[in-house]
Amino acid sequence: MTTFKGSCQCGAIQFQIEGDPKWIAHCHCADCRRATGAAASTYVGSERKQTKFVAGTPSTYQSSKGVKRTFCGECGSPIAYQGERWPSEIHFFVGLFERAEDLVPQAHAYEAEKLPWLHIVDEDPRKKGG
Ligand SMILES: [Zn+2]
Ligand SMILES: [Zn+2]
Repeated sequence: MTTFKGSCQCGAIQFQIEGDPKWIAHCHCADCRRATGAAASTYVGSERKQTKFVAGTPSTYQSSKGVKRTFCGECGSPIAYQGERWPSEIHFFVGLFERAEDLVPQAHAYEAEKLPWLHIVDEDPRKKGG
């Protein structure tokens, strides 16, 4: 089974996904934009039971009701998004993975909130919500 390994910038937080992730998608919403500082956020959605933290425990910030965002308390890298809407899932940021090139996004969420100067050229499905 494939294992996807990831870590924050300083390496204090290390985690892995066993097997293929459930989905991979870009989010263009303003909340994610502020949480990451990036124009768009690309998430690797996984079932919590297929993931584990190998080193460290991320710090937590509740960014809105029912939404928990985690980050490395040492270096500040955003780690994951967990929302009550997806209670069995954890959504890691794609840029944390060793082989991010193999984690290919398949969809866009919240395109209506996208920054206008960011031009999407793929034909991947657009999802209304997350
Ligand atoms: Zn770190
Ligand atoms: Zn978002």
